[in-house]
Amino acid sequence: MIMAPRERRNTVWCSYCMSKGHNRQTCEVLKKDIERLRESFGDNHPEVKEYDDNRRSISASASRRAKMPRSCTYCSTHGHNRRTCPTLKKHLSYAIRLNRDYCKEVLSAIEDYGIGLGAILRTEDQTLGWHKNRHFIQGSRHTLWMIVEVDWDAISFLNPNGRALRCRNMSTGEEIEISVPKMQPSLDIHSWEVASPSASFDAPIGWESGELIKKSLQSMTLDEVQEILQECGRYGE
Ligand SMILES: [Zn+2]
Ligand SMILES: [Zn+2]
Repeated sequence: MIMAPRERRNTVWCSYCMSKGHNRQTCEVLKKDIERLRESFGDNHPEVKEYDDNRRSISASASRRAKMPRSCTYCSTHGHNRRTCPTLKKHLSYAIRLNRDYCKEVLSAIEDYGIGLGAILRTEDQTLGWHKNRHFIQGSRHTLWMIVEVDWDAISFLNPNGRALRCRNMSTGEEIEISVPKMQPSLDIHSWEVASPSASFDAPIGWESGELIKKSLQSMTLDEVQEILQECGRYGE
């Protein structure tokens, strides 16, 4: 966690007046004491001289720091910043392309299986019986669920098992979240099937273009992004 400047300042102790919240360099007590000494003994008093020398070297190093070229927080190269970083630009456009392909696949699955808003899904609960040392299926009960929300933000190649479909139990109101299946959902494989499809699937603007991935990548480091891109594609760099 990054501490806010005020919190950090509170942890500082002044070695001169022993109070909290500033250091010797910015101590007002020391500054007043030095000014009193200066009035009585002049600039050449050893403590006054030491104070002045100190101030001078601090401001010199501060201005040296200010003149130093800043490096990019993404690729650590000098001469540009994160906003204009060509490496980050390249990585983003690659990630957007990967995500666009991924979103296209998910959308076609959603359309093919009719698992849009309002679709009715059916799950099967089996009650097991026990007879002559063997389990047998005693009975099964179907439960109906309605898809009440498609969380498009939860769908990206970074999050292939994101639980994007929120379903409400039509008799109890209980809600569960499931991910978009990669093949026709069936009771055997997914333990649910589509009882009544829906053709309502309006992805938000920008979703199909894959651009939403930008938000997630902006806050990552170069190493993190490279690892993801290498895992997800044939990214050579
Ligand atoms: Zn102080
Ligand atoms: Zn850079």
